[in-house]
Amino acid sequence: MYDHILIRYGELALKGRNQMDFVRRLVKNIKQMVYQYYQESPVLEMEKGRIFLKLNGQEPQKYYEPLANVFGILSFSPVRKAELDMDQIKKAALEEFRSLPGGPKTFRTTVRRPNKRFPVKSPQAQREIGAYILKNVPNLKVDLHNPEVEVFVELRDDGAYIYTQKIYGHGGLPLGTGGKALLLLSGGIDSPVAGWLTMKRGIEIEALHFYSYPYTSERAKEKVVDLAKVLAKYCGQINVHIVPFTKIQEAISANCYESLWITIMRRFMFRIAERIARRREALALVTGESIGQVASQTLDSMYAINEVTNMPVIRPLITSDKEEIMELARKIDTYDISIRPYADCCTVFLPREPKTKPKLVLCHKEETKLKVEELVEEAVNNTETILIKADEKDEFGYF
Ligand code: ATP
Ligand code: MG
Repeated sequence: MYDHILIRYGELALKGRNQMDFVRRLVKNIKQMVYQYYQESPVLEMEKGRIFLKLNGQEPQKYYEPLANVFGILSFSPVRKAELDMDQIKKAALEEFRSLPGGPKTFRTTVRRPNKRFPVKSPQAQREIGAYILKNVPNLKVDLHNPEVEVFVELRDDGAYIYTQKIYGHGGLPLGTGGKALLLLSGGIDSPVAGWLTMKRGIEIEALHFYSYPYTSERAKEKVVDLAKVLAKYCGQINVHIVPFTKIQEAISANCYESLWITIMRRFMFRIAERIARRREALALVTGESIGQVASQTLDSMYAINEVTNMPVIRPLITSDKEEIMELARKIDTYDISIRPYADCCTVFLPREPKTKPKLVLCHKEETKLKVEELVEEAVNNTETILIKADEKDEFGYF
């Protein structure tokens, strides 16, 4: 029977004290994630570059999905622990092999010996354990280069850990080690992916959505809430700030030169986002922009839009192709929600010929026709915040 899950964290091969902080945060995040799924607190042990989750008689499979959703985890394996004694290790290795489905015909044994006091060196231990399995399983062959099954044995200070399966996580860095950013979350395909990639680098996010009721329906807002719910699977919960944007869009379309609508609208978005970010102590904005995707995503447009903020703007998808973005969206489960056909605020006031090279001077001139500061302040003050939690009942299931 499996007694632990061995958890590997890759990139945390950082130095000194930093590493301890990162590992502690990772342990905390694993605890929170498991709690979020099962309202139970797992026992975790930190051990030289690894974390062990104690199973206490429970099936390991129930932890696979929660663990796979914790950023910073590279991979994990259900393991059997044996005493540091060759006979015990051989028995446990055989038991592990026999527990595998499908009756594999070829295998190899791989031993690692971080505990240098263990008297049998890796190559010899490998041979002995392999020979023991061969002797006890009929019609089995060793294949060193392309085995169906690899039996791993890690000889550590407190025991031997035996496993054959390795499940991959997303890698990245533990959430909360990188500060906080504010994600501009539309109902589209790109921004949820941008938010996910940002979280993957350890940065917490809150989300901001510009909402143009009645030009966009309740359904459009629902879509954003559903997207936030999926993102919350990876972080537990997420604040979504809903900004009323109708008045600003109406003012722009009534007063400004049509080809600049989008640029001016996006300048408003950044101004509002920056203000809300400061209130929420977020240090950067995140968008799903990708070069060349639409008229407002040329370098010239970004230059004109970016002028209104001094905050760093993280654009994780800036050089990605649409195909790559769609693939990631499918992988993280946001795609099906994003393609629901409800209009976004940007699609409602679409100019016939948006400028791909908006000039700053022109933007400034057009904006003199608007009460910019008043409109921004009003939108910020009327922003409504919803706390979205991962929905345990609907979204979760075992692999
Ligand atoms: P997405 O797929 O993320 O909607 P897009 O390809 O449709 O992106 P744009 O509509 O130009 O591109 O928007 C670029 C970015 O601006 C979005 O990725 C998002 O970060 C932000 N954005 C656009 N519309 C909104 C909105 N209604 N609320 C919040 N952010 C928005
Ligand atoms: Mg969009």
